[in-house]
Amino acid sequence: MTTSEQLFEKAKTLIPGGVNSPVRAFRAVGGTPLFIKSAKGPYVYDEDGRQYIELINSWGPMILGHAFEPVEKAVREAIQHSFSFGAPTRKEVEMAELIIDMVPSVEKVRMVNSGTEATMAAIRVARGFTGRDKIIKFEGCYHGHGDSFLIAAGSGAVTMGIPDSPGVTKATAADTLTAPYNNLAAVEVLLDNNQNQVAALILEPVVGNMGCVLPEPGFLEGLRDLCDKHGVVLIFDEVMTGFRLAKGGAQERFGVVPDMTTMGKIIGGGMPVGAYGGRKEIMDVVSPAGPVYQAGTLSGNPIAMSAGLAMLHHLNDHPDVYTQLDQIGEKLTAGFRAGLQKAGLNYTINHISSMFTLFMTERPVTNFAEAKSCDLPLFGRYFHAMLKRGVYLAPSQFESLFLSTVLTDDLIQQVIQANEESLLEAVS
Ligand code: PLP
Repeated sequence: MTTSEQLFEKAKTLIPGGVNSPVRAFRAVGGTPLFIKSAKGPYVYDEDGRQYIELINSWGPMILGHAFEPVEKAVREAIQHSFSFGAPTRKEVEMAELIIDMVPSVEKVRMVNSGTEATMAAIRVARGFTGRDKIIKFEGCYHGHGDSFLIAAGSGAVTMGIPDSPGVTKATAADTLTAPYNNLAAVEVLLDNNQNQVAALILEPVVGNMGCVLPEPGFLEGLRDLCDKHGVVLIFDEVMTGFRLAKGGAQERFGVVPDMTTMGKIIGGGMPVGAYGGRKEIMDVVSPAGPVYQAGTLSGNPIAMSAGLAMLHHLNDHPDVYTQLDQIGEKLTAGFRAGLQKAGLNYTINHISSMFTLFMTERPVTNFAEAKSCDLPLFGRYFHAMLKRGVYLAPSQFESLFLSTVLTDDLIQQVIQANEESLLEAVS
């Protein structure tokens, strides 16, 4: 038995499913999750002492590689002054100023402790601001585990929400309307049928959570127009894309400015942080400026702020990071495409900058229904073949991979080689 196997056996007796977040359990690909002991730069190391090249990067935050020195230094410095005050700090002011400077839609911002908190708060604020109850989300978009977001659409059709998880009440689900991603007409129908009832439309402007799916040309602009026409608060959930696709996130890259933005992951430099922000008049309904309550004992935590500030300052001061990430993404996906061609396979790769997914389907993937057409057992075999060759991928087909700046040309070649061999092994 490996150490990971031993730990997992014990963990299952102590923690539901043995993990503190479901995807970590490897259920989608089979086998035993790696228990990670440490990480540095482009590598993670498991409890059995094995080294892997990282293509998950803590699901996004580690955009500059693991244990990035300026972040580590900032945390070391901060812990000398105690770990939490539950009172305002200079660092929170600096953080707010920096986020507002970097993210086009944000005029005021509130710090929270996770992406889930950010999205839950954002829709409460949108509801308080508009005096309306319903929200629209897209099938396959993940916005954390808040009740209102755990809603799936009926297959293919635009439908009223049906709870995706026991424990979400029918009443909550009824206020979440869903549409297929990249389908403006479906959104128009929902808005026409629910006049003056929809508070917010929330989406991942580039989806990471059904695998990487890009907005089709005109989709984001069309949503902006529809939200303006119907008085709906447009929320970009940039928990994944924020500070990754550009320093101002997808909204900067695509030139479409939402009313509100939710953030997480990179903003904490690896510490538990989230944030939501937007237009001043909307954010001023948040307590204590306004009546919409939202709070947090550890919100704006000084250690987390220090890590996040070091990360964001680096990204803000080094715009070349984004050119570098674009180039790394280009090289890696070009190599993956060549590998597919060599193997005589015609599978789909969706890619933008440092986010990409190899979908085990020959169909284009523009929405969740298409993503679901993938050969999942094949993905499982491919995943384990890559792992065996020292490449750590997200353990599910329905995830984007996240690249970091520390992937050298040599490492990129190693991953491309592993991909070629793993594809052949998986299809044989
Ligand atoms: N929104 C998006 C787009 C996400 O990808 C995630 C998590 O992966 C969340 C929200 C929830 O963030 P957290 O896991 O920090 O609660």
